Amino acid sequence: MGRIVPMGHIAIVVHGGAGDDSEYIVKHISEYEEGINDAVTAGYNILKKGGSALDAVEAAVMSLENNPFFNAGKGSALTAAGHVEMCSSIMDGKNKKAGAAAIVTNIRNPISFVKELAKDSTLLYLGGDEALETAKDLGIKTEPEAYFITEHQWDAFEKERKKDAGKSKVLNKYLKRQHGTVGAVAIDVEGNLAAGTSTGGTEYCQPGRIGDSSMIGVGTYADNKTAAVSCTGDGEYLITEVLAYNIAATIEHTGCTIQEAIDEVILVKNKDRACDLGAIGVDAKGNIGIAFNSERMFRGWRTREDSGIKIYK
Ligand code: ASP
Repeated sequence: MGRIVPMGHIAIVVHGGAGDDSEYIVKHISEYEEGINDAVTAGYNILKKGGSALDAVEAAVMSLENNPFFNAGKGSALTAAGHVEMCSSIMDGKNKKAGAAAIVTNIRNPISFVKELAKDSTLLYLGGDEALETAKDLGIKTEPEAYFITEHQWDAFEKERKKDAGKSKVLNKYLKRQHGTVGAVAIDVEGNLAAGTSTGGTEYCQPGRIGDSSMIGVGTYADNKTAAVSCTGDGEYLITEVLAYNIAATIEHTGCTIQEAIDEVILVKNKDRACDLGAIGVDAKGNIGIAFNSERMFRGWRTREDSGIKIYK
């Protein structure tokens, strides 16, 4: 058995996306809860052994990317062209190194790819076909597209395609489409923070659409001085609110806790926004924070004192 480090402020929080409830979710609640629990456990086990927040975040996100119930990696939503286009980002609060990838295909675990980019961080943000070539050069595992497409997402695509029946050329009516994302934030025994996010995006979206999840400062942000944050919701709104950085900056400017900062940005500042917003975070003192304005947000957390899994409010 490995060395068990006396626990400092270690903590992990994961989310599996905020948005509307659905019959499918209600039918599969236990699978969703199990998936969140697996992700929390994967990350926490690393922290418990003295591993880094960055490794814990990767492990938690990877576990959800491999889980077909969540919209990231296997189980990603399909674009209106019937393809999978994934976005992901990661940030290490210790040195502010980050990696990001938009509209990537075939990469089994986009979070591992962006973590690899974050090692150096001089080539920080990649997209499109060249991202796949770079991933292959870096030895990142790839899969044929069929690996990512679940029956549930294919059915959702077919349903939208029939409704749409070639009416709209530019599919910018993203609101009220189903969307999903996974993310994790952690603090390790040394007090380092990290955040990561990964998504298959919005169902039946315009091919080439990029949401917030690949954007540093929007879907993902981490700085040891303030907080690590991962966001979810309607990307087009998250982007204009620079959501993750907005939350961290609230701590910097007011000295509040992460829960107060997330509440302020999501529930106060944006209370009149007709869109889904959700965020999880951990601050430099090891406090955790979670808030969302949608019907549900899959989420789970484990700290020294506390743990839990929830879907609804
Ligand atoms: N933020 C993601 C996007 O807009 C979707 C989500 O979080 O559910 O692509």
